[in-house]
Amino acid sequence: MFEWTGALAFAGSVDRLPGMMDINIVCDDSAIRVAVGPGLLGDVGELLRRHGDMTDVCVVTDEHVGSLYAEKALSSLRLAGLSPWLHTIAPGEDSKCLSEADALFGALATAGFGRDGIILALGGGVVSDLAGFVAATWCRGVRWAVCPTTLEADLDAAIGGKTAVNTSAGKNLVGAFHQPVLIAIDSTCPKTLDSRDVRAGLAESVKHGLIASEELLSWQASRTEAILSLDEETVGELIIRNVHIKADFVSRDPFERSGVRIMLNFGHTIGHAIESACCFRLRHGECVALGTLAACRLSHMCGLLDESVVDRLSGILSDIGLPTALHEPISTDGILRHISQDKKKRGKQVRYVLLTAVGEPVVRSDVPEDLVRAAYESLLV
Ligand code: NAD
Repeated sequence: MFEWTGALAFAGSVDRLPGMMDINIVCDDSAIRVAVGPGLLGDVGELLRRHGDMTDVCVVTDEHVGSLYAEKALSSLRLAGLSPWLHTIAPGEDSKCLSEADALFGALATAGFGRDGIILALGGGVVSDLAGFVAATWCRGVRWAVCPTTLEADLDAAIGGKTAVNTSAGKNLVGAFHQPVLIAIDSTCPKTLDSRDVRAGLAESVKHGLIASEELLSWQASRTEAILSLDEETVGELIIRNVHIKADFVSRDPFERSGVRIMLNFGHTIGHAIESACCFRLRHGECVALGTLAACRLSHMCGLLDESVVDRLSGILSDIGLPTALHEPISTDGILRHISQDKKKRGKQVRYVLLTAVGEPVVRSDVPEDLVRAAYESLLV
């Protein structure tokens, strides 16, 4: 079960980091350490060294993140007596693909990287999904760790062990559950993010609030300004609150089998369809924002949710600067085609995560197609 320690539980130099928090996710018989704190990237070597014998560390990053943070991570790893080397990919969703995975497999083979090595993902959700997928499959599975650098990854993508690449069959359809041994979140990394990426990352926090916590939803809404200006303390608290919620879902259903973890897909059925249909011109978080709004409207159309929640959500998204309307020319039929490939399907039935109230998600597989059409079309301007 999920265990919230909130304590500086580890001895040594790492303990002296001001404001660092430890969250232990006990998941499928293994413990995953989530360390959150300002400047943590400088201690990733020391944190990683505590996870068993290893010397070879393949650091996977993208060009943007690499130019900002690779040297800091590499120095820390060397200082801890490890032997890191860097593999850099082009930034962006296009890199989350089989050919990039193959390039990384090739680099691992050239380096003689074996089961005793560890892959460290340094970057946003694209890097962690790709590096985690390679870790899950190289030599039938090697250890990996993640230093997320976007809010999207801090709040969501780095937590939970879902790894994936996109293929011609669809987004995230090829992947594996493979838990990292360590998630080290340096809460200052979002400071160098583009403001559009800051806003996009917050969509996942809104989703967490909607499905699990009125408290988070109102806390976030009351601190939108401090969050958007990346006030250090507020961002640290935002991350910890979200890790706590996601870890709770993940630890209760690590492989998305028991009906608990599926709730985290709220807003993602229509959201992923928009993301794929617009060929990734919109950020993942922007599509999640639109998807959550459509899912709330759909919940209302199904007679489950009061309209006031839809209006409230629309206000929260606007305050953050997230889209509440879609300006891309994507036909409803195109969206329905993407939805028909959704991973949550049972047989031919698409399953939708809907809401009956804040904190009360439900799964429905009997949603009439005309309501789905209407919910999507309500986003069009
Ligand atoms: P991303 O990794 O593409 O990062 C967005 C951009 O920000 C990139 O250009 C990147 O180079 C840049 N960047 C990253 N960190 C930076 C920093 N600190 N300073 C400056 N620039 C920085 O995108 P993302 O939004 O982090 O993640 C989206 C991806 O995550 C999608 O593919 C989505 O499917 C996936 N995701 C996975 C999960 C999961 O559970 N596995 C959950 C949510 C999202």
